[in-house]
Amino acid sequence: MKRPREKSKAEHDIPLHLHCVICGRPISIDKRFCSKACEEEESKRYKRQRRMWFTWMAIMIAIFIMIFIMPLLRPPR
Ligand SMILES: [Zn+2]
Repeated sequence: MKRPREKSKAEHDIPLHLHCVICGRPISIDKRFCSKACEEEESKRYKRQRRMWFTWMAIMIAIFIMIFIMPLLRPPR
């Protein structure tokens, strides 16, 4: 007697695949994006992230200069 559970298990065994990192649609394993639009979206995100990172670095460096360098630049009395 065949149990009905076996069919649902077979359906669960989907072939190896990935999901588009932008929209989450299933894609084949050799790709990262489902479409050109998603690829562009990802590169936009990456650029935005990188700009954010540079901004933060600039702020950190500015704070560092103010705390550690500025007192050294003051002429000693
Ligand atoms: Zn996508």
